[in-house]
Amino acid sequence: MKPIPLVDLAAAHAEVAEEVREGFERILATTAFVKGAEVTAFENEYAEFSGVAHCVGVANGTDAIELALRAAGIGAGDEVVLPANTFVASAEAVIRAGARPVLVDVDDDFLLMDPARLPDAIGPATAALLPVHLYGQLAPMAPILDVAGRSGLTVVEDAAQSQGALQDGRASGAHGLLAATSFYPGKNLGAYGDAGAVTTGSAELARAVRLLGDHGSERKYEHVSFGVNSRMDGLQAVVLRAKLRRLADANARRREAAERYARLLADVPGVRLPAVAPGNEHVWHLYVVRVEGRDEVIARMQELGVHAGIHYPVPVHLQPAFGGLGHGQGDFPVTERAAAEILSLPIYPQITPEQQERVVEALTKAL
Ligand SMILES: *Cc1c(COP(=O)(O)O)cnc(C)c1O
Repeated sequence: MKPIPLVDLAAAHAEVAEEVREGFERILATTAFVKGAEVTAFENEYAEFSGVAHCVGVANGTDAIELALRAAGIGAGDEVVLPANTFVASAEAVIRAGARPVLVDVDDDFLLMDPARLPDAIGPATAALLPVHLYGQLAPMAPILDVAGRSGLTVVEDAAQSQGALQDGRASGAHGLLAATSFYPGKNLGAYGDAGAVTTGSAELARAVRLLGDHGSERKYEHVSFGVNSRMDGLQAVVLRAKLRRLADANARRREAAERYARLLADVPGVRLPAVAPGNEHVWHLYVVRVEGRDEVIARMQELGVHAGIHYPVPVHLQPAFGGLGHGQGDFPVTERAAAEILSLPIYPQITPEQQERVVEALTKAL
């Protein structure tokens, strides 16, 4: 029997193959390899999809976070508060912007930024909050924006795992002053290489991001600020436009798959199912369950032909690269406990009910 992958990018490609081929032909004919008309068209379409006025395409999601922070004026001497349970790129981007990441533990129900822990993390140097919409659902934005408002802080969303997700009817990427997203191939909206974007309601901030991402230049050879090279490719924009047209449908199929897992797993003892936070429409970038003895369980599932994942096995504060933050084991107990128990089951729009039954069978046997 064919192994079941964690994600199936070949199946995703099959659905857009023709449109992508035609689009690539257009790019080859015009040689608009970096930026260009396809990128502008995608930016407009993604802004509309997200319900924001502006979208700026950049080279990847990590750059998107860095440039969003820098555009908001955050840098040396500033602290940015973000959840301990996230991909390292969230913290990496803060450091690259010149600021200091301050981690807070997550809540145990949803593993998202816990607003109750923010007051203890906020000090005189705090300039911004960076909530992460992990696994496909938004962090609780109302209380986060409330804390930010009272302390005069900027809110930048890390929306890399949540394209199309909603909270109280408002899209991921439309809650903060700015938001950053990633179109890494495995994300809900994935390119065929690296790409990312910043969304914002502010024309001024959008312009600042665009300037920073293009060597601080709006006119050729005129450099008004110190920037970087972070621009979107025309070929990626072609793929993203084709997939964006189908994103709402793809997310609906992920939701169906998540509901099927919940039914199939309801009577399996020893599995804690993922929960949807109030007000959220989840897009199931990942389907993360919790089990005891996770390392043996994942190894056994692998032998049975099911490729599960772990997002993420070692939290940011315990990574050698972040030793400079001075943290150790025990500093963020909810994140640490989760890191030992979490298991991401295969999920993608094209997963079949039979595949999901095999996943659940393998998990049940492994337990
Ligand atoms: C993928 C991801 C990023 C980084 O995006 P890249 O495009 O890989 O640079 C940042 N934050 C989170 C939560 C992510 O999942």
